[in-house]
Amino acid sequence: MSSPTTVRTRVAIIGAGPAGLLLSHLLAESGIESIVIDQRTREDIEHTIRAGILEQGTVELLDGLGEHSRARTVGQRHDGIELRFEGEGHRIDFADLVGRGVWLYPQHEVLKDLIAARLAGGQDLRFEVTADHVEGETTDRPSVHATTADGEQLIIEADFVVGADGSRSVAREVVSGRRTGHFREYPFAWFGILCDAPPSADELIYSNSPDGFALISQRSPDVQRMYFQCDPDVDPNSFSEEQLWDELQVRVPGHELKRGPIFQRDVLRFRSFVASELRKGRVALVGDAAHTVPPTGAKGMNLAAADVSVLHKALRSLLLENDESGVDAYAETALKRIWKGQQFSYWMTSMLHVAPTADDFDRLRQRGELRTVVESRAGQTYLAEAYTGWPLA
Ligand SMILES: Cc1cc2nc3c(=O)[nH]c(=O)nc-3n(C[C@H](O)[C@H](O)[C@H](O)COP(=O)(O)OP(=O)(O)OC[C@H]3O[C@@H](n4cnc5c(N)ncnc54)[C@H](O)[C@@H]3O)c2cc1C
Repeated sequence: MSSPTTVRTRVAIIGAGPAGLLLSHLLAESGIESIVIDQRTREDIEHTIRAGILEQGTVELLDGLGEHSRARTVGQRHDGIELRFEGEGHRIDFADLVGRGVWLYPQHEVLKDLIAARLAGGQDLRFEVTADHVEGETTDRPSVHATTADGEQLIIEADFVVGADGSRSVAREVVSGRRTGHFREYPFAWFGILCDAPPSADELIYSNSPDGFALISQRSPDVQRMYFQCDPDVDPNSFSEEQLWDELQVRVPGHELKRGPIFQRDVLRFRSFVASELRKGRVALVGDAAHTVPPTGAKGMNLAAADVSVLHKALRSLLLENDESGVDAYAETALKRIWKGQQFSYWMTSMLHVAPTADDFDRLRQRGELRTVVESRAGQTYLAEAYTGWPLA
């Protein structure tokens, strides 16, 4: 076997998801060099369908990409959502309640923008390079040991290593141990579809029904994204298209869905997780490497952006001014928002889904909870504040 190639940079970032790419962009703006690696191809990264809602603060961070950010031009601003239960819709008017909004702009489009900006800036972004492990976390020269697509060994030595490598993070191994943290499993999942059809509604509908939850979302004038609550072990191919439409429609009583050919289907399992540590020495975790949330509150990608905004400032102080205080405070600062995001995601999930073990008491109490929100300005305001995102630190 040939000897490894060693390269040196200031910040080595594992993962070219929203967290890793946004961090590399902010660092470049501050004049700090970084190398980003990802085990996947550019094609795969730019075409994997995941999250779709950007908080206002996330869009403001992406504005820094200049001409490369299309969130405001191609994405659509939404000023509210509908909460639906007992066959009736109730609009939560974000603009009126908190003067903020969200943008419907899919994660893979955000990634296309971030990759384009990084490559246009001549920055180092390497696809099909897999991090095997991280070393030297308690020294001032941590390193990432990786393997390229053609089997070459690569060592990236850095002043700081960031694990932005998603829920199966290898960087987590040295920060907190791969599986140590706070977990919550859920007895249901989301069945997601993409279809060729006109929008069934102008804004997102979050619907609770006796048959379970559904989310009616949009992608473009001709393509729609919708989800319904399902068993986590369901086989995505076990339904005909007609059955899928019937499953969706029964969960949105009183609102007729516009049907069309379904061209993608997937099952998204739910899990809440927060790693026991977010930093050890000169290695830190951001985004899904540090925490995951169920998708009901649309917080996954937005929490990743918020972590990055905190860590970017900390790294600027460390690497430009030799001031360690921001890095020392990173976990404590980031965790405050992470746990607020966990609470909101858990709350939306439990308020809207029907647990397989739910009895009449549970169902009636749930309706009482939904009424508490829609019939009170204070209840609506909490939802609007959390959904549009608390201002970034
Ligand atoms: C299947 C799926 C569907 C989702 N759907 C929704 C949704 O509908 N709504 C919602 O709000 N949220 C959703 N989420 C959550 C949201 O997409 C994530 O919170 C968001 O992607 C987090 O960004 P990240 O950059 O932290 O991690 P990721 O986007 O996971 O990026 C991590 C990157 O690291 C790379 N990587 C991993 N290990 C290595 C390694 N060893 N070496 C090199 N590279 C590595 C991966 O290839 C990946 O590109 C979904 C998540 C998943 C997994």
